[in-house]
Amino acid sequence: MPAPTVCLTFDFDAVSPWLHMDGGDRNTPTNRSRGLYGAEVGAPNVLEFLADRDLPATWFTPGHTVESFPEVAERVADAHELAHHGWSHTPPGDYDSRAAERADLERGIAAIEELTGSPPTGYRSPSWDYSEHTVDLLLDLGFDYSSSGMAREFHPYRVRHDSAPVDAPYDRGEEADLIEVPVSWGRDDYPPLAFSGSRGYTAEQVVFDDWRAQFDHAPDEGVFVVTMHPQVIGREDRLVKLGAFVDHARDAGASFTEVREVAAAWESG
Ligand SMILES: [Zn+2]
Repeated sequence: MPAPTVCLTFDFDAVSPWLHMDGGDRNTPTNRSRGLYGAEVGAPNVLEFLADRDLPATWFTPGHTVESFPEVAERVADAHELAHHGWSHTPPGDYDSRAAERADLERGIAAIEELTGSPPTGYRSPSWDYSEHTVDLLLDLGFDYSSSGMAREFHPYRVRHDSAPVDAPYDRGEEADLIEVPVSWGRDDYPPLAFSGSRGYTAEQVVFDDWRAQFDHAPDEGVFVVTMHPQVIGREDRLVKLGAFVDHARDAGASFTEVREVAAAWESG
């Protein structure tokens, strides 16, 4: 039965985002405790959920998380793809220089290499955006793919060296040797399910029903990337709802895979 390929992805931010958000104003004990929940409760719950259902997944994990919570990071790496999500979870556009962005990327690679014995092949930007240097740095540092862009809904594509002068037409630029496995705000648990000054929904089942409707309308050859965060999705009641979505996709014939497998298949196809 043909059906889309599903990539369950987890941005394992733990404490790291709270250190930088709003210029450091959110770096408070209670915010950090939300990250602690993600590392100490949410992530183990998600690991158990995935193991029970024999599901592969990709965990985009900051080096800060790897080094702060090594035991759970090791459990993730033993069972799943552990990919790059910055060392410090600083949005690329916030760096003062190319050198500073590169240093953070290198530190993140080193943390993952220390944990797994090999460098990551995949990257997801903290904030899902790039600085003017990010694509070149990812190419320079040997990444095969990124999962941060939105130029397609369900189909991987090559990142381009585009330029967007404000007084001239947009220039799509040359293709780069970097595959983008696209994401969507419409399939991210954080905006609708996590309070961050405001919250998008009150009836949580709506979120999972929407993912199901999107899946039902995705093309059979498409790649359906869902982005989740252990501190958000890791609650038992939410994992039950995620399980119902997984069952629905499986019944429809979907296969589940790591993002690096999608990138490799697209490259060779
Ligand atoms: Zn993140």
